[in-house]
Amino acid sequence: MDPLHARYPFLAAARETVRDADLGLGAIVVSEGDDRHPAVERGVERVRRALLDGTVARPADSRRWATSAELLSYPVARVLVSLLDAPGAVEKYASAEADTAYDRFTADFENPDDGLKSTPNNAISLDALLAEFDLARGVEETGDGYRVAVGPYLRLSSGLDGDSWNLATRQLAEGYVEVEDSELHRLLREAVRMRVAEGLPTQVPDEIRTALTDEVAELEDTFSEIDISRSIDVLAPGEFPPCMAALLERARAGEDLPAHSKFALVSFLASAGAETDEMLALLGTDDPVEASEIRYRAARVGDEAGAQYAPPSCETMAAYGDCVNTDDRCETVSHPLTYYEDALADAGEIEDWRENREAES
Ligand code: SF4
Repeated sequence: MDPLHARYPFLAAARETVRDADLGLGAIVVSEGDDRHPAVERGVERVRRALLDGTVARPADSRRWATSAELLSYPVARVLVSLLDAPGAVEKYASAEADTAYDRFTADFENPDDGLKSTPNNAISLDALLAEFDLARGVEETGDGYRVAVGPYLRLSSGLDGDSWNLATRQLAEGYVEVEDSELHRLLREAVRMRVAEGLPTQVPDEIRTALTDEVAELEDTFSEIDISRSIDVLAPGEFPPCMAALLERARAGEDLPAHSKFALVSFLASAGAETDEMLALLGTDDPVEASEIRYRAARVGDEAGAQYAPPSCETMAAYGDCVNTDDRCETVSHPLTYYEDALADAGEIEDWRENREAES
């Protein structure tokens, strides 16, 4: 199996590979014990990571999976997410698949062979990705960016937040909309998200539903451990856990945080009740591209219906190297939000950062 397909399992060629492998989903999930295909375990990890951490990449310090398990875990994950009774599961899953693909293809565009001439098939090119989504003729290079035919532009930008995507604010000529490189990448991320979400939730045959009963229960237990509908209505940076205070400081200093750290910080701020504009002010963001990305991420992590992403647990933060400057309270918690809630409760009367901000303006 092609490692490229394992990295981008939503590609049409990857789906064909799965079909040609003649390994039906039933055969993968119905097996038991030592015969259980590793794609099932990886599929569970894929969904857990998607819904809790906003990525489907395996944790850096975890087991490495064979190419076949990685590729086949994608159809398994699609079935699992279809069986889950969790608010917004499909949307979060599709979004996490798209974010992971985005991280990978933007890295591939910058580093087509990653210095590994012997494994050129691992990377995808911009041309190949455009062709995959039928955009080869709808996107043209302009010299200082790209122009996208208005039809695909409207379709792909329809779910994107922020006035900058509005056609009225764009240069439009000869039926094409001008976009910067980073904006084209965002549109491609949307193409991936739409492809992944297509057909979800899927109808699951009884035999497969029964075979995955334990895995679905395990996933639902994991999500119920974290009360993501909690309502914290005080924004007090002085009480933030050390990990989030450190990420906030780095962001305010202008550092371009890795995607997983941005996800952690934005989802924490959203869970702490920060609106997008308040987030931007708190982060001190004045770069329009950065602001647009924060708006986008904030829109993805928040959901008024309660389907909000919780920030990652302490365990995940530690795996990413983002658990820093720990203190005594850290010994008593397993989640940064619990730290924040406990700190707020202990602090008594707290001045909300927003009140200060309003008083100053
Ligand atoms: S232990 Fe948890 S709350 Fe404390 S710094 Fe680490 S990740 Fe943050």
